[in-house]
Amino acid sequence: MTYKINLHITQKCNYACKYCFAHFDNHDDLTLDQWKHIIDNLKASGLVDAINFAGGEPVLYRDFPALVNYAYDQGFKLSIITNGSLMLNPKLMPPELFAKFDTLGISVDSINPKTLVALGACNKSHEVLTYDKLSQLISLARSINPSIRVKLNTVITNLNADEDLTIVGQELDIARWKMLRMKLFVHEEFNNAPLLASQSEFDGFVSRHSAVSRDVVPENDLTRSYIMVDNQGRLLDDETEEYKVVGSLLTEDFTDVFDRYAFDEATYASRYAS
Ligand code: SF4
Repeated sequence: MTYKINLHITQKCNYACKYCFAHFDNHDDLTLDQWKHIIDNLKASGLVDAINFAGGEPVLYRDFPALVNYAYDQGFKLSIITNGSLMLNPKLMPPELFAKFDTLGISVDSINPKTLVALGACNKSHEVLTYDKLSQLISLARSINPSIRVKLNTVITNLNADEDLTIVGQELDIARWKMLRMKLFVHEEFNNAPLLASQSEFDGFVSRHSAVSRDVVPENDLTRSYIMVDNQGRLLDDETEEYKVVGSLLTEDFTDVFDRYAFDEATYASRYAS
């Protein structure tokens, strides 16, 4: 079996989502050469065939275009998960780069600006990814790469659980829509418990949207079925709220580090079955 790995290449983000669990130790990002070394390490393992660039907001990694080009040239299938707000900025996301991606994943928790601001899914000036900008972004990506798959991620909290986003699925031809119940994350002063949606609120959101995408995937729990590398190049174990470091892909072979990870193969296989 080969795997998709999630490289959280930067923790920088222009948004401040109140539920965000992309909180790793506060170190500077790795250099481009260090990430190239990790990509070589993944390739040499023969265990990884797909890379998902995540963050933070991945386009804020300073050498993002060069890193994408390198991973593409090594033969990996590429995807990205982005908040979308900077993807129309050609300095951060040169449009020709869309051609290198198999899948464009966009986080869309709401199309109501008030909800997005309440969630913190906005920049410091409270600018949000409006429905129009989302639609423009998808059109641009498809104009450059007609076969790109568009995937949405929606995190369900008690702020958006009652909302209706069906227009997004009806109008924008979404290939896959992941609906995730917000994961509780408590770390030092950070506590997202006040935003937690109940199981019935989550189920209600999923059933309301199940008819509008070709593939709706409700995800209650990702524990140990998501291969996550932080912005220091370390494989993390997400079994507990405080992620544990399994090992560094800068200093050890991926195969050895992955061997030590009590990975939930069955859940992973079921998540990616479709
Ligand atoms: S856009 Fe993503 S990385 Fe940025 S704050 Fe929100 S959840 Fe965190």
